[in-house]
Amino acid sequence: MTRSELAAFAAHESASRGRRYSEPAAAYRGDFQRDRDRIVHSAAFRRLMYKTQVFVNHEGDLYRTRLTHSLEVAQIARTVAGALSLNESLVEAISLAHDLGHTPFGHAGQDSLNACMRDYGGFEHNLQSLRVVDELEERYADFQGLNLTFETREGILKHCSVRNARQLGDVGERFLRREQPGLEAQLANVADAIAYNHHDVDDGIRAGLLTVEQLGDEPLFADCLAAVRERYPDLKGRRLVYEIIRRMIDRVVTDVIDATRTRLDEARPGSIDEVRRQASVLVDFSDVMLEQHVSLKRFLMANLYKHEKVRAMTDQARRTVEVLFASYFKAPVEMPEEFHRASQAGDEADRARIVADYIAGMTDRYALREYERLTA
Ligand code: MG
Repeated sequence: MTRSELAAFAAHESASRGRRYSEPAAAYRGDFQRDRDRIVHSAAFRRLMYKTQVFVNHEGDLYRTRLTHSLEVAQIARTVAGALSLNESLVEAISLAHDLGHTPFGHAGQDSLNACMRDYGGFEHNLQSLRVVDELEERYADFQGLNLTFETREGILKHCSVRNARQLGDVGERFLRREQPGLEAQLANVADAIAYNHHDVDDGIRAGLLTVEQLGDEPLFADCLAAVRERYPDLKGRRLVYEIIRRMIDRVVTDVIDATRTRLDEARPGSIDEVRRQASVLVDFSDVMLEQHVSLKRFLMANLYKHEKVRAMTDQARRTVEVLFASYFKAPVEMPEEFHRASQAGDEADRARIVADYIAGMTDRYALREYERLTA
């Protein structure tokens, strides 16, 4: 999208707060495109292929992984960005990077690693995603990390405690000033929520843990089911499920576009800095859709994420991460050379952070292999 097609309130490359280390401009790509490309070429991005979203990677080839989840987030976000004249390249970069810091085994892995890091500053996947692009990726001769623009980094850091914000410099400031991020960052956040709610319904039905009948109590699902039944009275199985889900996503995405347009018309921010100074986010669901979205999210929590079969998996994941952390912390020599060497440099907290970095970077299957090796 050329600059003239972007709205005034969008992120414009010409007004970017820039990279941490200045670099000459690329000949054929804008800065946000270049951020996206650096993310796609990173090792952390490739690892997303073998990291759990909800279902552990080896449970089946058709379930979402962190990689396909991130691609679905980017797809939804770009559609909304196009409709609202926001910066598609930036929202794509943020979407593809938003889960780079996720541990193996989804939220169970994150909760477990956070518990292991209790005395050493904790572990938070959002902060870790930023750490991956700022520090951990090793690709360039002149700097650590991917040296992304401020706007992409701002979008990656969705949440942050005040304590951590103080240590983060530029991207931490908005949490101290209680400012908003740019609209592309707000959009990637909403697209994330839309993507997981719907693909988890799909994966949950595929796994046989949820049924169409059971979901009939959810207003958004019920409305779309009725619409499909009216047009295709005899439709069953996967096609029925997909016809419902595509309508759900379409309704929610349309709602976000319309509701956001209304808020933008009222607030009339003239630049990304005016967006940042707003009292609240502008990219969001309407109140009615938010209620339905939250209701579906609660349904998934009660019936899928806490389903005994998913729990059995998460209990195993928790144990695996605990054992890995304790083993490496006690014997850093069990980690690869560069992590081992780095772990010898600082104090206990530094060593814990290196161990957390190492574990967080693992794919599910690598973590399981290491667990077997260390407990053999
Ligand atoms: Mg996500």
